Amino acid sequence: MDAPDPTVSGRPLVVIGAGPTGLAAARRAAHCGHRVVLIERAAEVGGMAASPTIAGQRVDLGSHRLHPSIEPEILADLRILLGDELQVRIRNGRIRLDDRWIAFPLRTFDLLRSVSPKFALGAALDAVTSLVRRPQADTFAANLRAGLGPTVSRAFYEPYATKLWGVSADELDASLARRRVSARSPLAIIRKIARGASPAGRTFLYPRGGYGRICERLAESAIDSGVEIRLSTEITGIRLNNDYVTIKLGNEDLPAHRVLSTINTTALVNLVSPRPPQSVIDAVDRLEHRAMVLVFLVCDQDQYTPYDAHYLPSPDTPISRLSEPRNYRDGPDPEGRTVLCCELPCQVGDEIWTATDGQLGDWMADSLVGQGLPRPRLVATETRRLPHVYPIYRTGYANDLATIAKWTEGLERLVVLGRQGLYTPDNLHHVLRMGVSAADALKADGSFDREAWRMALAEFETFVVED
Ligand SMILES: Cc1cc2nc3c(=O)[nH]c(=O)nc-3n(C[C@H](O)[C@H](O)[C@H](O)COP(=O)(O)OP(=O)(O)OC[C@H]3O[C@@H](n4cnc5c(N)ncnc54)[C@H](O)[C@@H]3O)c2cc1C
Repeated sequence: MDAPDPTVSGRPLVVIGAGPTGLAAARRAAHCGHRVVLIERAAEVGGMAASPTIAGQRVDLGSHRLHPSIEPEILADLRILLGDELQVRIRNGRIRLDDRWIAFPLRTFDLLRSVSPKFALGAALDAVTSLVRRPQADTFAANLRAGLGPTVSRAFYEPYATKLWGVSADELDASLARRRVSARSPLAIIRKIARGASPAGRTFLYPRGGYGRICERLAESAIDSGVEIRLSTEITGIRLNNDYVTIKLGNEDLPAHRVLSTINTTALVNLVSPRPPQSVIDAVDRLEHRAMVLVFLVCDQDQYTPYDAHYLPSPDTPISRLSEPRNYRDGPDPEGRTVLCCELPCQVGDEIWTATDGQLGDWMADSLVGQGLPRPRLVATETRRLPHVYPIYRTGYANDLATIAKWTEGLERLVVLGRQGLYTPDNLHHVLRMGVSAADALKADGSFDREAWRMALAEFETFVVED
């Protein structure tokens, strides 16, 4: 590749957001010789994939694992970055269905032993009739009922969808089934169960020091490549001029030859001038996000259970998933203490969002007991609140997304990417690909290869999220 043009390098490439997408983009661009400034509002890198320390133990912002479906090129890079820190682990989770625990990912023997005869018969009948079923509407629920069959769809996916996104599965768009459910037919489920039968078929990767190590190592490598990372930096405006961009940082104006933004589109639209057309502002306003409160229960016991995660679809508890971070790794965790993480999907301002730590701690302990789990030996509670955790794909959302995409496509010097920028529920390995592809579309003369980016965006549409 030619060295980047020095007249362009006079103004840096500015990347907004030091989550995995921004870090991957900044690091790759700097590797290719671009001058890069990475701006992050928080005091540390990692975004939703960071690992804060609570009671002396590193925890993740909800259950995080590196899935084996990661692209080989991206994995090879992470292996070099993390070395021995990256451990191969065997998944050991459970799901609560019909007041029983079933191993998750599903395993044939455990499944046959655990489900009720009524459920087994229903699922078997659904499998036989699957070829003649067709979706009755263009919704998430209708697609799953047609694909997986009503028994599995109604027992698991529909209540879980309502808990995760806060609306009925009948109000969610059909595309969510493709993006969020990797096995969408009885045959695909059988294949998945068969894979899960051997431990090798249920592995994941995880860094010994917490998931956040991935972003920390990416940031160190980015700095080594010349990226200037500015933490705790608030952007107050983004002025799009004809041939450059002015980033307003309080009293400072930072000129950029191009900007890659990974932040939430609503925030971006409010920062940009000239102001986007009203149709774009209206479309952005209609896009909804689910929030999440993460309740960390500090317990004075070595281990709460041997499981890494418990999936709780039931509406009887506000917890969608419980994870025990020390069970994700063989790491340097303190003795006599474990920290549990309860994921509570909610709305900003509702009773979960506004509850105090003390209220949430007591509520969670009772709720876990109500799900058949032991009472945790709770000594302290800490919380983290994430306002934009899942995009809510209500039917019709795609029209609004298309309006926004049309606007961003026409912006010569601003590129939008990442989980929040593109309004997707994607995994870390997906967003690392986004960052790398955006950097690769930057040409040495400072221009941006729009055709390559369009192709990359089409590829991102094929990503399927794993839990
Ligand atoms: C509960 C949960 C569980 C998950 N589990 C998994 C999993 O098991 N495996 C997996 O691969 N992925 C998982 N993910 C997904 C993974 O966390 C995301 O894919 C990834 O963090 C998205 O990275 P990003 O950089 O696009 O966005 P983010 O991580 O959201 O980063 C955006 C960054 O921009 C910063 N920012 C925002 N506004 C501004 C501003 N105005 N100025 C400057 N900076 C700003 C933020 O502080 C943040 O650091 C999970 C996500 C959640 C929520």
